Amino acid sequence: MSDRVKRIYFCRHCGSELEFLKDGGGHIFCCGEEMIIKKPGSNSEE
Ligand SMILES: [Zn+2]
Repeated sequence: MSDRVKRIYFCRHCGSELEFLKDGGGHIFCCGEEMIIKKPGSNSEE
């Protein structure tokens, strides 16, 4: 019973959000740039 980690990827260009339940270990790209991971329950830090 391993808890799945939900990760939400966010594209800074088009604002698209993709939700993944598995830890693929790869990188998600959108608009030709790597998408950033939105941390749940935390403010946007930059
Ligand atoms: Zn995009």
